[in-house]
Amino acid sequence: MSAIEFAGEVDGWSQSGGPFDPVLLTAHDEAETFPAEACAALDRWGLPDYYVPNRFGGRLTRLDEVHALLRTVAARDLTVAVAHGKTFLGSASVWTAGDGQAATALARHIMAGEAVAWGLTEPGGGSDLLAGELTATRRGSGWSLSGRKWPVNNATRGRFVCVLARTDPAGGPRGFSVFLVDKQAAAPGTVRYLPKMPTHGIRSADISGVEFLDARVPADALVGTLGGGLELVLKALQLTRVGCVALSLGAGDHALRIARRFLGERRLHGRRFSELPHARTVAGRSVARLLLAETVAYAAARSAHEVPEELSAVSAITKALVPTLIQGQLRLVGELLGARGFLTGVEGYGGFAKIERDHQIVGIFDGSTWVNRSALASGLPVLRPGRRPAAPTGVPVHEWLREDHEPAALDPLRLGVMARDNSVLSSLGDLVARLGAAPQDGAGRMAARLLDAYGELSEHISGLRPVAGPPPTAVMRLAERYEWCHAGAAALALWAANPQHHDRDWWRDGLGLRGCLALVLEGLGAQPPEATATFDELGSLLLGDAGDRVSLLGTPVEVSA
Ligand SMILES: Cc1cc2nc3c(=O)[nH]c(=O)nc-3n(C[C@H](O)[C@H](O)[C@H](O)COP(=O)(O)OP(=O)(O)OC[C@H]3O[C@@H](n4cnc5c(N)ncnc54)[C@H](O)[C@@H]3O)c2cc1C
Repeated sequence: MSAIEFAGEVDGWSQSGGPFDPVLLTAHDEAETFPAEACAALDRWGLPDYYVPNRFGGRLTRLDEVHALLRTVAARDLTVAVAHGKTFLGSASVWTAGDGQAATALARHIMAGEAVAWGLTEPGGGSDLLAGELTATRRGSGWSLSGRKWPVNNATRGRFVCVLARTDPAGGPRGFSVFLVDKQAAAPGTVRYLPKMPTHGIRSADISGVEFLDARVPADALVGTLGGGLELVLKALQLTRVGCVALSLGAGDHALRIARRFLGERRLHGRRFSELPHARTVAGRSVARLLLAETVAYAAARSAHEVPEELSAVSAITKALVPTLIQGQLRLVGELLGARGFLTGVEGYGGFAKIERDHQIVGIFDGSTWVNRSALASGLPVLRPGRRPAAPTGVPVHEWLREDHEPAALDPLRLGVMARDNSVLSSLGDLVARLGAAPQDGAGRMAARLLDAYGELSEHISGLRPVAGPPPTAVMRLAERYEWCHAGAAALALWAANPQHHDRDWWRDGLGLRGCLALVLEGLGAQPPEATATFDELGSLLLGDAGDRVSLLGTPVEVSA
């Protein structure tokens, strides 16, 4: 089964009367009722098996597979993807801790269709996990939990919730632990649900909360080590952040489908709308945003396998940049659609406003854009280029980004909390040199400018020293520039890794690469003269056959049977 075949299944379910019928999903959105039919269809197909690593009995062997599947669901309905995919996020701590018995037990429940929620946030604490007040106190051989987690996706519907709890009253980095709570096993009256919260987007999702009132859990509910909760969460978040950007890619696919239809059928001033040069350029710019987002996401999914010790930085870059790129893409498509981007009842276009509303959550949960940028900014002094010779990683980036490369097995034990290198960006010089050997129109010039910008950034970074506390605004800006440089390097690496695609659709004449580099240079504050013509070319290609599938990933991922 390939991701394309799975997409065919979901398309079948999207027919009138099916569980993904847009009429049904819109009705759920308006009534704020859970999309149970769509989630049940995904359960029947076996999607939960892909949230469970194969060593615990599931089918998760490669993060790019999970990406392809969640992207496919999100491209039909982002709320359903958020509601269903949450189990991947909720269970990640258990897989990361690696206790075989606990993980195998949870795996069985997930594959039977039970949902797992992820309870980090508390009403008073927000992003500040060290402020968490939900406590776990020893009672006999087990624990008693008291306190609230809010807001939490699937807090009410999920049978399990994975919570971060304070186990040392003094708190601090070693004062928290993770517990997997089976709510069905709790004594009556000790678990209370907080009401569903009305939301701006993903209105039909179960966004609520949970309160524990001296809720007793057995000793084996502890996930990982006592006091190791914060570190465990910080590691699990690296996997979930890489996973959840697939939601953004799906939203981007969905929006481009609508934009393409509009460009193809709208007539204005006696001509086709797509003949307006500005409309084509805007469409092309929105294509480039999706291609760049996909590239960064794909590089992150592969990094998780190949260089997990770098994932703390790579996942932060990815979670900060990808939702931002896609939210910007949605704004462009909204402008393109004009009134149809705002009206919710026009056939074929009414769904756009929902995508735009729904997608805003991706930049908020699992660490907001700022939280991730701030994490990257704090780590920049350690990452600074040239600080130490890069550790020999064995396989170079342009090898492990090859589509036919079999990724190394996922090994959460190799995750760290402070990356010391970034193989993608460290390879920039080499990647630019490789491109120079086969110069492409415009791409070589833009790549050289990127290398200069990275050189300049490296000088600023080399002056940084680790400091306690939140990074200053100037360092947050450096982190943002670092994200753009990383994205440009990822685009060059994907190009160098996959020469077999160079004469295909979005790759031909280096078009996709040029689009990515033009965006990166703009992000870095440059005005590349090649940008407008490149975006115009991308916009034109969207109208042709290639527009059916906007992607630089040539071969649809084979999903393991
Ligand atoms: C629909 C929805 C579903 C959710 N689902 C879940 C869930 O399933 N599980 C769960 O645990 N949580 C969930 N959350 C909570 C979500 O993860 C939090 O909203 C998020 O962690 C931020 O907390 P906050 O909104 O209270 O913002 P605050 O922490 O109060 O932050 C306020 C602002 O400061 C910024 N900020 C915070 N820290 C920093 C920093 N270090 N550097 C720079 N800027 C910073 C934030 O980006 C934000 O803009 C959900 C939220 C929503 C809206």
